[in-house]
Amino acid sequence: MSDPVAPLQLPGPDDAQDWVETLARDGLADARRVVEGLRSAPPGSTLSLLRAWDEVARSLSNVAAVASLLANVHPAEGVRTACEDAEQEVERYVTALRQDRDLYEVFAGADATGLDPVAVRLLTKTLDDFRRAGVDLDDGDRRRLALIHERLTAVGQEFGRTIRDDVRTVRVPAERLAGMPQDWLDAHPAADDGLVTVSTEYPDSVPARMFVRDADVRRQVTVAFLERGWPQNEQLLRELFDLRAELATLVGYADWAAYDADVKMIGSGPAIPEFIDRIAEAAAEPMRRDLDLLLERYRRDVPGAVAIDTADSLYYEELVRQERHDVDAQEVRTYFDFARVRQGLLDVTGRLFGLSYEPVPGAPVWHEDVTAYEVLRGGERIGRIYLDLHPRAGKYKHAAQFTLADGLGGRQLAEGVLVCNFSRGLMEHDHVVTLFHEFGHLVHHVLAGQGEWTRFSGVATEWDFVEAPSQMLEEWAWDADVLRTFAVSASGEQIPADLVARMRAADDFGKGYHARTQMFYAAMSYWFHTSRPADLTAAMRELQERYSPFPYIEGTHMFASFGHLSGYSSAYYTYMWSLVIAKDLFSAFDPADLFAPEVAARYRDRVLAPGGSRDAADLVADFLGRPSSFDAYAAWLAR
Ligand SMILES: [Zn+2]
Repeated sequence: MSDPVAPLQLPGPDDAQDWVETLARDGLADARRVVEGLRSAPPGSTLSLLRAWDEVARSLSNVAAVASLLANVHPAEGVRTACEDAEQEVERYVTALRQDRDLYEVFAGADATGLDPVAVRLLTKTLDDFRRAGVDLDDGDRRRLALIHERLTAVGQEFGRTIRDDVRTVRVPAERLAGMPQDWLDAHPAADDGLVTVSTEYPDSVPARMFVRDADVRRQVTVAFLERGWPQNEQLLRELFDLRAELATLVGYADWAAYDADVKMIGSGPAIPEFIDRIAEAAAEPMRRDLDLLLERYRRDVPGAVAIDTADSLYYEELVRQERHDVDAQEVRTYFDFARVRQGLLDVTGRLFGLSYEPVPGAPVWHEDVTAYEVLRGGERIGRIYLDLHPRAGKYKHAAQFTLADGLGGRQLAEGVLVCNFSRGLMEHDHVVTLFHEFGHLVHHVLAGQGEWTRFSGVATEWDFVEAPSQMLEEWAWDADVLRTFAVSASGEQIPADLVARMRAADDFGKGYHARTQMFYAAMSYWFHTSRPADLTAAMRELQERYSPFPYIEGTHMFASFGHLSGYSSAYYTYMWSLVIAKDLFSAFDPADLFAPEVAARYRDRVLAPGGSRDAADLVADFLGRPSSFDAYAAWLAR
């Protein structure tokens, strides 16, 4: 018999497609067999019922995890397509299971007497899944729900596609682009008519809005950027909000935000605007302070100006940063050699969490760039991680942690993957911070992969809490003592503490108005889903006036390219919500010794290791010895 906690043996590059197809077929067949058993002969005890249900979850999550990873990273297109098919098949089956009334009756009739609290939680969550899928509705309503789900997927895809495909351009003579980085100018020569094309894609529009000295060019690029997706997406958004509202009310909620918040830490829909207003109030003074500096610098070029909008704010923010804090990004990069940073990350997190990482040089991987490590704790293997950190064709374009296998104590090894797109030589400090952030998710996945239930394994916590551990780990990438251990230049010089201090001060600039901008977006995401305004432009304009430090630019329709309206839906507040908690968690650490072992071990064992087995609010309170509070965040904002 094979060792149940041996790592998954990944295929070689040539047999990957067969391997994926077989894995998907077998995994789905296993799940179907167990479900058939549950239906025909339900187990005598509730614990056996839950264990069987967890086997279904494990089989399906094993297929979904491998498929989702390889669909995003495998070099062969055929493999990626096979993986997308497998993902969809799992999704369809999960939806069908949650609407299966016979199965629901088995769980609804289960007696929770004698179960431990985690098993009771599993039973409660399972019944919730059925209810939220509309299992107890009549046939007509369930058919309508199925149609809504299908249409929502299509509308979401079309909304995203419109944003991606609507690339706009501004064409100007080369001399009007003074201020752009030289390597950008070299790569973008003028056409025969003497004009250079600047597109709304990030690699063009971000430096153009940040560095071009010609205010009119900045404005043209900004307006083009804000107009992406309009007018096509306005109608799609209206349909999206209506369908979500209908879905939520069909399954018994007041509106979409109430439905969505019910499974999040925030708990209720109306708590969202309360949170938004609380942040907006705490950020009011810090916003004023930074905005004054911005305006003061702006008025040196535009005498008498009383406001600055987003066609100018990025440019002047960059100027203020340079002039006040004197951080040279080129100089900073010389301290962040990729190989050293990667080793530094492993050393820092190993020391913090009491782990060690052992390279597995012979492990089969999907691309030669990928490195594999065993994760050891007290000499015992508790997981395996893969780092896939450089860009290549056909690969996922952002930075994220992917699950390869949900860990289960004694039954299945926790395995996860970091997928990022960093350069091979010197790194931007921003990217170092991103690496620490994403590694926070990975270490959470492994540490929380030692429990009993698939449902609660890994980062299976509330989705408005899940960013907090990663946001907190970013702090280690901003600490001068920590950075000195691996931020070393080619000539062997450690990064100077005063440079790190200036980098922090520059990064801090604008945090007040940044928070207010985020609350403007969060308010849009909430109110568009709840009051569903007839005139989205007018509603956006009103919310911008209330929350944003920057006035509305006449004639623009930014909501049409606000992609998070599809993914985050009414919950764009979540990033700020978890940041508030991250600052609170970090306040328990001693800034003079970020590795103090007692607090680090307590954090690891009480916040990370339990995964989803308890409410996040309880994990945080257990670690802090009190309920989470707003104070540390407010103090950071005011600093
Ligand atoms: Zn994250």
